[in-house]
Amino acid sequence: MKENMLVLEMLLKNKMITRQHIAERIDEAKRTKESILDVLVRDRIITAAEIVQIFHNEWGFEAYDPRKDVIDPRALSLFSKEQARKYLIFPLDQQNDDQLTVVMADPSDEETIRSIKRIAEKRLKILVAEKGCVEDLIDKYYHQQYANQERADLITHREQKQARQEPTVINLVNDLIDEGVSRGASDIHVEAFSQKVQVRFRIDGTLKTIGRISKESWRGVITRLKILAGCDIAEHRQPQDGAFTTNHEGRQIDVRLSIIPTIHGEKIVLRLLDQKKFLISVDELGFSKQQKQLLKEITEAPHGMILICGPTGSGKSTTLYSLLNGMDPRTQNIITIEDPVEFQMEDINQIQVSEKTGLNFANGLRAILRQDPNVIMVGEIRDEDTAEMAIRAAITGHLVLSTLHTNNAIASINRLMDMKIPLYLLSATLRGVVSQKLVKRLCPNCRKKAQPTELERGLLGMPDQDFELFFPVGCSFCHGSGYHGRIAVQEVLKITRRIREAIDQGEDYDSIRKVAIAEGFRPIEDALKRQLLLGETTISQGMEILAFENDWHR
Ligand SMILES: [Zn+2]
Repeated sequence: MKENMLVLEMLLKNKMITRQHIAERIDEAKRTKESILDVLVRDRIITAAEIVQIFHNEWGFEAYDPRKDVIDPRALSLFSKEQARKYLIFPLDQQNDDQLTVVMADPSDEETIRSIKRIAEKRLKILVAEKGCVEDLIDKYYHQQYANQERADLITHREQKQARQEPTVINLVNDLIDEGVSRGASDIHVEAFSQKVQVRFRIDGTLKTIGRISKESWRGVITRLKILAGCDIAEHRQPQDGAFTTNHEGRQIDVRLSIIPTIHGEKIVLRLLDQKKFLISVDELGFSKQQKQLLKEITEAPHGMILICGPTGSGKSTTLYSLLNGMDPRTQNIITIEDPVEFQMEDINQIQVSEKTGLNFANGLRAILRQDPNVIMVGEIRDEDTAEMAIRAAITGHLVLSTLHTNNAIASINRLMDMKIPLYLLSATLRGVVSQKLVKRLCPNCRKKAQPTELERGLLGMPDQDFELFFPVGCSFCHGSGYHGRIAVQEVLKITRRIREAIDQGEDYDSIRKVAIAEGFRPIEDALKRQLLLGETTISQGMEILAFENDWHR
């Protein structure tokens, strides 16, 4: 690995590192074939952001701002992905025919600059960015460009390539899953019709057609998947389920396979459970500062019940796992009972509900209580038995976390009342409720600012204030949809003494809500407004939240 002596010297000069720091890392850098600079970053002696700062301060290079730039396909086409990777550059923009803007992690590397000038045959404007940022840009946009090629869609393309080189369905199956994971798909559908076999991905909740495969390959794909998932390969007329684990860029992906026979053959759905997705810290979940503080107060309680609620697919498990992740499993006995176990955690005992063996939430919980637990996570409270067991666990000195399928935090209280939980037990155990919904996130690459209309002002209850909203546009990064990924919008209810009293009195939804608001509870619309003003999402995405709340919907 080439060493950047200039940067090391500048870091020394600015007293950001010492000669000792460098000396101690020479052997390690040799061993791992990284640069000393990389090892210094990995060891957190300096940060990648500080290196960018040095390039700016010492040499005057402008830093790349991901929010400002639109990706230019013409610039992309000047370099292959391999070249971009090799030189660690990202061609950003070709303003006119003779100038190209590139993003680089190391703009002092003159050899690379000469090479890219030769390839592009243009003058260069160089922006500097963190190494990881350049790598992300290459992965993200070269990938998109590839996927956007209308004629040769990726899968058929790869299929043809492999037919020439190595005619195996093994690679096709691997590519299918790799492609799904890297595009953030939650499900892969392979479905046969009379004339074609179609592949679709569910991305951010929406199904998208990705391409086709030939009928011959499709039969191979089914057999291969059945073998992987432990299904019967000779069975074609019965629905089958199975599961297997695979790897994507070093991380574990759990795949659940479901097969049903249709009139044109077996339809396959693969659900991808990306372990990395669940490894989000509470900081990254989109909670405001005030909400994080409330959450901290709620989870610090040694016993009691904490609920996460929201509709199906609102990211409840991610929030639950993040809360568990913030607890210390070495000094506490943490046990979960889940259906299914979506994410495997180190040092935590996880139990899978199983219909076959008759292990359900309620009797599983009963057994857990004999295992000297501190913290118990119950995947979902679905019935009165489970609710009763969970409350019993919470009242006997355990911290119980669970989810409830309700539309907002206050409605969860009424739901538990409906499940015949005695009021005094409910008020004594409930510590707090988080309610969340997912909305599509505006593409940061193409969103535009505009003045809100009168209707929008009205919807937000801000008729006279001066503010701006953001709107979707559509670019190559977001496949023209104007949105990219999703964010959670939440409300956090901390059960205060006055709310406890209202529960004790068996008050109805409206009265409890009134008390909560007087106690400082900020309903989900407030969080939505914050995200709207930050340009994270749009009113049309948040309509459901606004409508739900305005109707007092449960
Ligand atoms: Zn876009």
